[in-house]
Amino acid sequence: MSDTVTLVAPCAGWLAPLEEVPDPVFAERMMGDGFAVDPVEGMLRAPADGTVINVPESAHAVTLRLGNGAELLLHIGLETVALGGKGFNARVAAGDRVKAGDPLIAFDLDAVATGAKALITPVIIASEGYAVEIDSAGRSVAAGAVVGRVSRERTVSSDIVHADVGAERNVRVTAPNGIHARPAARIVAALRPFLADVTLHAADRSANARSTISLLGLGAGRDEEVRIVARGSDAQAAVDAVAALILANFHEAAHISVPRASATHSGPVRAAPGLAIGQAFQLRSADLDVPTDGTGIAAEQAALATALADTAASLDGAQGTAAEIAEAHRALLADPELAATAARHIAEGRSAGFAWRAATAEATAALRATGDALLIERIADLIDLERQVIGRLLGATAPAAPALPKGAILFGEDLLPSQFLSLDTARLAGIVTAQGGPTSHVAILAASAGVPMLVAAGESVLAITDGTPVILDADAGTLSIDPDADALADASTRLSVLRERRARELAAAHGSAHTADGARIEVFANLGSVADAAAAVSAGAEGCGLLRTEFLFLERETAPSEEEQRETYSAIAATLGDRPLIVRTLDIGGDKPVPYLPLAGEENPALGLRGVRLTLARPDLMRIQLRAILRAVPAGQCRIMLPMVADLDDYRPVRTLLDEVSAELGVTERIQLGVMIETPAAALLAEQIAREADFLSIGTNDLTQYTLAADRGNASVSQRIDAMHPAVLRLVREVGRGAAQAGRWAGMCGGLASDPLAAPILIGLGITELSATPAQVPAVKAAVARFDMAACKALADKACAAQSAAEVRALAMEAAA
Ligand code: PEP
Ligand code: MG
Repeated sequence: MSDTVTLVAPCAGWLAPLEEVPDPVFAERMMGDGFAVDPVEGMLRAPADGTVINVPESAHAVTLRLGNGAELLLHIGLETVALGGKGFNARVAAGDRVKAGDPLIAFDLDAVATGAKALITPVIIASEGYAVEIDSAGRSVAAGAVVGRVSRERTVSSDIVHADVGAERNVRVTAPNGIHARPAARIVAALRPFLADVTLHAADRSANARSTISLLGLGAGRDEEVRIVARGSDAQAAVDAVAALILANFHEAAHISVPRASATHSGPVRAAPGLAIGQAFQLRSADLDVPTDGTGIAAEQAALATALADTAASLDGAQGTAAEIAEAHRALLADPELAATAARHIAEGRSAGFAWRAATAEATAALRATGDALLIERIADLIDLERQVIGRLLGATAPAAPALPKGAILFGEDLLPSQFLSLDTARLAGIVTAQGGPTSHVAILAASAGVPMLVAAGESVLAITDGTPVILDADAGTLSIDPDADALADASTRLSVLRERRARELAAAHGSAHTADGARIEVFANLGSVADAAAAVSAGAEGCGLLRTEFLFLERETAPSEEEQRETYSAIAATLGDRPLIVRTLDIGGDKPVPYLPLAGEENPALGLRGVRLTLARPDLMRIQLRAILRAVPAGQCRIMLPMVADLDDYRPVRTLLDEVSAELGVTERIQLGVMIETPAAALLAEQIAREADFLSIGTNDLTQYTLAADRGNASVSQRIDAMHPAVLRLVREVGRGAAQAGRWAGMCGGLASDPLAAPILIGLGITELSATPAQVPAVKAAVARFDMAACKALADKACAAQSAAEVRALAMEAAA
């Protein structure tokens, strides 16, 4: 077997050094040395003679074994696994022998360029013991042009490398949290340029300094002395590099040296109301079934390498603290101990998924054994990575739904709307997330399903064992883990009182709502599905004030067709009978991404191409949706509403399009088109907007985040997000006043409309329609009936004059008592 193999360009394009690949996994050679080509043609060819080891189902990458034994990974573009095979056509399969220049994968250059993060295609020598030499990268090459060579390194006897060249040094760890995940990742990164074997010793424990997992297991805390020991030709330099890092406190900024559930974190926050008693259930990927046996060692290794690389690539683009966490996650994905454990299982004939699960389980057990609270928090990271890598190995973008036990209180890092939608809500008693914000879309889904939910509860909740009894009091923002018998008895009494009150309110909910002195207030419901519509009707809703159509666009590979949309809208309209139905046009972006509509990576998605802005940019989507709505909902019942409007320029083009579509379909009635007031701009221009729009409906979830400059999905500011804030209420007053001046009605469909405490204040501010979650309709109706107009106005005035949301809440509670 020849030691050196010549490499040729796998496609025409720009030959670039790996440093230029905008992804540290490749650029920092975490997977190995190599080169990259930014292609100008859609055909990937073999860079040398060899055998195909593996082509994943998504056909975005291929691994080859060359004549000298080197294994090569060719990865077309970055983050292309997410394209799910669209635009790729594999010309070879595992086991095929290829000659240099033979076609491997054909790909649609345009489709991949628009769908992926980048087109640049890294070619990586993934096996150890080979040297790569590239001839002057930074030039354009034709396919088949010689670009360099890969040679088997002459095996230097380990005695020579390690020839008793050694160094050691003792240093004291002064970083406040010791060597936790991020410092460990930094040590691993700092050692990358060195050849020496390095170990860290603390008391009688020792760790491989090139392994984050091993370093975490060392459990070196603050003020502990560690000994750095290195063997190899550059031992001294390696020791110095690690010592310098430890002495510099790992360059950690003060704000990230505290655990995530930090001093500034003040406990769980209510995201959906209610009280629940149940048993803990941790959301993890153990529910994803992986095959036990592999299909060949090389194929499983290659599949795991691709899944790890794709997971690491998906961590790009994180900002701030998230970027720090991403760095730690990347290090875990490249961890040699985890890799070695997984490789051992694969060598024993296991599948890549089985091996990766076994490796993370071993690492988790080691972390748990330290008994260190901070290290135990890192278990959540491993669990998260286990889920992501296995999800990729199984070709799933989202893991399968877990089988919940009855009365489950689900714990998770955070939950995606799509994950919630896959849960069996009949078995779900409540949800607690470590991260997340109270008005995220998953919180809205939970509230509309009547599932109490707490967010921002901190990482410690992820260590609660499955089956532990739990009392979740979302209204009080408290969580009792393994409560005693008295607490359980007390909670179950409160639960019965709540249930009785709910039953009374429900029995009274079927008439139309009026204040105590007879002013008409419509109480509608927010819907996302046909099932919600049925729940709303049984709860006494008088119509639908917000149909969130985006849920129809989630959890799928392509946008729903006009016909499919028509069927769903029509079923919802039929379920509502003759009650009015306000359909909101597609509102995606922010925390509601969809896989088939790749939005360019936005630094601030909440301030980006969201809601009506996206559909104005994609009139094709808007037209299909308007056609489906008009065909599905009888004109007398149908109203349409636009999300994320800032001013009339967002409204007028849609009015024109709606009139065009109406004419096309022969709809002669003028369909009402309203505007959601979700931006401070729209609130301040309410009167102007209401002179053209048919109605206004306030979305307090977004209006609050934009008014208070507090991200609705960010746990660390979740305590600030309260729509009862006087600044938000003053904007509501502006909307009520503006609509009345223009002779239109103003309603509210944001989360505040579901809060019975807020009802009298909102009525006092001029809101005449409240659209709540179906589950809250009876309570809101009961609240409306309790006050007369004069009392509502007096309370509203006091609320607008208050100085904080807490003060407003106290006023509202006093009024309701
Ligand atoms: C809102 O922002 O208040 C609203 C109702 O819209 P969504 O929560 O769907 O963004
Ligand atoms: Mg909104």
